[in-house]
Amino acid sequence: MKNRIAILGGGESGVGAAILAQKEGFSVFLSDMGKIKEKYKNVLSNYKIDFEEEKHSTEKILNAELVVKSPGIPDKAPLIIQLKEKGIQVISEIEFAGRYTNAKTICITGSNGKTTTTLLLYHILKNAGLNVGLAGNVGKSFAWQVAEENFDIYVIEISSFQLDGIYECTADNSILMNITPDHLDRYNYNFQNYIDSKFRIIQNQTKNDFFVICADDEVTQNEIKKRNIIPAIISFSLGEPGENSAGVKNEQIVINIHKNQFIMSILDLAVQGKHNTYNSMAAGIASMILEIRNEQLRESLSNFTGVEHRLERFLKVHGIEFINDSKATNVNSTWYALESIGKPIVWIAGGVDKGNDYAMLKGLAKEKVKAIVCLGKDNQKIHDAFKGVVKNIVDASSMDEAVKAAYYLARNGDTVLLSPACASFDLFENYEDRGTQFKQKVRNL
Ligand code: ADP
Repeated sequence: MKNRIAILGGGESGVGAAILAQKEGFSVFLSDMGKIKEKYKNVLSNYKIDFEEEKHSTEKILNAELVVKSPGIPDKAPLIIQLKEKGIQVISEIEFAGRYTNAKTICITGSNGKTTTTLLLYHILKNAGLNVGLAGNVGKSFAWQVAEENFDIYVIEISSFQLDGIYECTADNSILMNITPDHLDRYNYNFQNYIDSKFRIIQNQTKNDFFVICADDEVTQNEIKKRNIIPAIISFSLGEPGENSAGVKNEQIVINIHKNQFIMSILDLAVQGKHNTYNSMAAGIASMILEIRNEQLRESLSNFTGVEHRLERFLKVHGIEFINDSKATNVNSTWYALESIGKPIVWIAGGVDKGNDYAMLKGLAKEKVKAIVCLGKDNQKIHDAFKGVVKNIVDASSMDEAVKAAYYLARNGDTVLLSPACASFDLFENYEDRGTQFKQKVRNL
């Protein structure tokens, strides 16, 4: 029997890590302070993995040699502090899984656009016939697949919380979409800590690997100037394309990678809006590095179906278009939503504010938003920020009320946009629940 491992958190990543650990011969104990979902409990029982819920039996955790921590548990949690004081290594599930596979990995991080770019790249590689797995924050956990599948290559979405627990694991190609303030509550309200976390994505890359970045993102650019970057940088931008980079010229995206050039009209991209042009270029660069043929790349960039809850245009009622952008949980992603819409907007916003500064939205709000429906338990900050900018600001305390208010305020030709710029936990289970309720209430109109 190998060493003892404790796994904290019984969600998708924790259960995946437990399965892999057992396969690798560890003695496994899984513990979750909250309730574990029935489906995961069944899996753990089937695999005969020792677990507990709604408590942490510290004596069974502090004697582990290695701990895999769910990204949801902050480093500040007393148990984690205790573990670190004892010198016990605490790592993330991605790090753990990375130690047991030789598959190629493409890791995608950023404040916004991770899921869309990850799914888009996965779609391209799968269509091209590669034996590819989709892992990380989206889909099945990386560890679970390393234990039970045999993929040659993985496209992995990695959040900063996962990155915080990565030490040795390396990405063959990494993509950093952008960096804007988010989750600062987990980073001592220090933006630099969050930036450092994002840059962990390249910490073990070699000069033969690639690091794909957004040239238009100032924070990323400034950080790169400060650091000695080892992997080869390939950038994307809405500006003119250069050598070994992607850009936009005459309404077309142009990607130049090693003597190959790919050109495609922006209008033919399946996902629209400036942010999605970035996402398409990032996925396109990674595909070209993997030598996907131009024709195949073009086809996949044009037939991707988009992702639920991200600028999802799902219904028109009496000439009013309804867009579900429930996944917009920070100000930056909402900026892109407002930017991408050409019609007068009734904007549903609010929820749990993670330290938002609404200043960057004021210009677009003044120009495009005719009314705001605030949907949160505490809406004062939105009122204060947009008073005098948007004429009509009303409050709603449920999705039903919000949809009715928005419908009442909108006219034929307008757009009703749910793009909260906030987390959802005050009134909803999560952003999916918020988006699903939104679509349901709109369908009932
Ligand atoms: P993430 O996984 O990083 O949260 P998503 O792809 O789920 O990113 O998108 C989250 C939100 O951000 C959505 O509202 C989406 O419309 C918006 N968004 C998507 N791509 C970008 C981007 N490149 N830059 C800014 N916002 C984006």
